[in-house]
Amino acid sequence: MNGKLIIFSAPSGSGKTTIVKRLLQREYLNLEFSISACTRPRRNNEIDGKDYYFLSRETFKAKIENDEFVEWEEVYKGHYYGTLKSEVARIRNKGNNVIFDIDVEGGLNLKQLYGKEALAIFVMPPSVEALEQRLRNRSSDDSDYIKIRVEKARAELKYADRFDVILHNDELTRAVEDADQIIKNFLHI
Ligand code: 5GP
Repeated sequence: MNGKLIIFSAPSGSGKTTIVKRLLQREYLNLEFSISACTRPRRNNEIDGKDYYFLSRETFKAKIENDEFVEWEEVYKGHYYGTLKSEVARIRNKGNNVIFDIDVEGGLNLKQLYGKEALAIFVMPPSVEALEQRLRNRSSDDSDYIKIRVEKARAELKYADRFDVILHNDELTRAVEDADQIIKNFLHI
């Protein structure tokens, strides 16, 4: 049987990547991470083919032309991100459930495409200030880029209501346990 889709969307810095990583360790959920393609530079702690498929802009555009994406977006000016059809098929064909870490617009697009096969979860940060602080602590991006991310975050928070579930991430351990229960209910396990 084809696996289901679990979509985690949120503004950058809301902690969704950490939540997704913790859930991936829970074997009973049978989750496999959908590795997105992107054109932004790789951060030092990231591995090509594990965190993202890091592509040149030319290669990314060729894949758009070839209709190889389920969804793609210019998430930040000049930086493209997208989910490859081959990636979703690779995971689902094994019977694994696909877990996505993608931006708000991409998450809503996937939900619309897959309907009941998908569960769309919005990760809500405690506040915009908390989110900005997390981005600064991460210090993997320069300060102009952080400002752009904070502005985008403010806009994205307005879309929370369109998701199946809003997951509050005030405290990480609690948020992971809540997410675990929500996913188990969705998968009927
Ligand atoms: P970052 O550069 O911090 O890794 O990611 C920036 C934003 O792009 C995050 O919100 C991340 O979830 C989102 N993102 C990652 N992959 C995809 C994708 O395949 N499609 C879309 N629409 N957004 C993505």
